[in-house]
Amino acid sequence: MELRKDPITRSWVIVGHREQAAAPAEACPLCPASVQPAKALLRLPGEGPAQVTVIPHLDPLYRIEGDLGRGAEGIYDKMRAVGAHEIIVETPDHARQLSQLNDEEIERVLHAYGARIGDLKKDARFKYVAVFKNSGPLSGEDWAHSHSQLTATTFVPRRILYELRSAREFYSQKDRCVFCDIVRQEMKQGARVVDTQGDYVAFCPYASRVPFETWVMARKHNHLFEAPRPGANRRNLAALLGRMLRRLQQVAVAYHMVVHTAPNVLQTKGELSDYWRTIAEDYHWHIEILPIVETRSKSYSIKEVYFNTMLPEQAADRLRRLDPNP
Ligand SMILES: [Zn+2]
Ligand SMILES: [Zn+2]
Ligand SMILES: [Zn+2]
Repeated sequence: MELRKDPITRSWVIVGHREQAAAPAEACPLCPASVQPAKALLRLPGEGPAQVTVIPHLDPLYRIEGDLGRGAEGIYDKMRAVGAHEIIVETPDHARQLSQLNDEEIERVLHAYGARIGDLKKDARFKYVAVFKNSGPLSGEDWAHSHSQLTATTFVPRRILYELRSAREFYSQKDRCVFCDIVRQEMKQGARVVDTQGDYVAFCPYASRVPFETWVMARKHNHLFEAPRPGANRRNLAALLGRMLRRLQQVAVAYHMVVHTAPNVLQTKGELSDYWRTIAEDYHWHIEILPIVETRSKSYSIKEVYFNTMLPEQAADRLRRLDPNP
């Protein structure tokens, strides 16, 4: 297993990872009976029975030990798949999904995301920490038991690089954060805003890639998901996220969710060195939710252009009308 870089798009690809065949008859590996407390990287709350348990991934894409083994093959770059791959088990209850947890419990899951991101960013080898969730069989989820995943990588994923480049360019021209400008305009227009709570907003982005695509973010500027602004009330974020997921499950059969935060500022060399000077001002964390509405998705073609059959204004209108607590 190794990482290879496409010299044209600059994206890193994991090659040679063999997916382990799932053994459906076995007991759920994420249920409390299967999870060894000694292996837990984090348990929340700190005392009493754990609700959230973070464990190393059972079939990791990246391994924590060793040096990067950066090398070249002629014009090509490669390195070893060094990194971290963890599972955030969101609840001990096999039958409850993230959307069915109460606000306090969802806040605890978000806290676990932030705590693990912050911890892994102390390792200067890691340039980026991603948290994502595949929910529903059609999303490619590994287990039905409600969980998220985290990867810490020695490179920045391609979409994040795109975002960083655009955000930096916008900032260098206008001295403003592009995400803050987007939120301001969306709040003013209202057509694509689905819901708000406290300092947080959920809206369908202007160029939504799939029907009911939703971004959830803070209205006040902050580049780090893992470091909330002083006074930020994450219970509001949890409540808003819960309502959005309960709306989306009425129109979608599955979803992908990903937390986008700034890369690791300990990494000052290489391809990222240019990005640091204004990163705290130009980038803005956000959560992207990509629902899957059809069993046969045609949204992403071989040409890498998205075809979305639904206007985000219509999607937002429909979502606003749905009962967030069905
Ligand atoms: Zn389970
Ligand atoms: Zn901002
Ligand atoms: Zn993003």
